[in-house]
Amino acid sequence: MGILKQWRDRAYDEKANRGEIQRMWSAYFAKEKEIYADLLKNPDEVVTGTVKELADKYNVDLMTMTGFLDGINDSLVNPNPIEEMEEDTVVNLGFDKERLYKNMVAAGADWLYGLEEWEPIFDEEKRKELYKEQKESGTVRKPAKIYPNDPCPCGSGKKYKKCHGKNR
Ligand SMILES: [Zn+2]
Repeated sequence: MGILKQWRDRAYDEKANRGEIQRMWSAYFAKEKEIYADLLKNPDEVVTGTVKELADKYNVDLMTMTGFLDGINDSLVNPNPIEEMEEDTVVNLGFDKERLYKNMVAAGADWLYGLEEWEPIFDEEKRKELYKEQKESGTVRKPAKIYPNDPCPCGSGKKYKKCHGKNR
């Protein structure tokens, strides 16, 4: 079984213990934010390595890295073979800046498109323009499976329904 399937089976398991899944997602979102912040510091560098090597580089477990690769895939210039990958598959994190920004907007993830690391990449005007283009396209991406009582992925410590999930 590929690692993507393992990740999805675990992260979206309807029968799993709710508390366990909540803790897993909250840890995932915290790490996701850190990895994006790190990537945005060198936006032109194409980070490459096996899934295992990238997990070590970003100090996360293999499943977290797999989830991250799943999430970023649509924003990559050369998408990875996420369906078939194993821990020793070589992958890359070479993202298309505009597409990544817009995908973060589409997910309603202001804790990601609002990262200060975006500021040297796109000036405020450009960011507003990308935001507007995305909103006008009408595409919405849910930031993954979050239940109303889950901790909000922005890291505020509030419940999702009382924070970013309010108007969803
Ligand atoms: Zn929030």
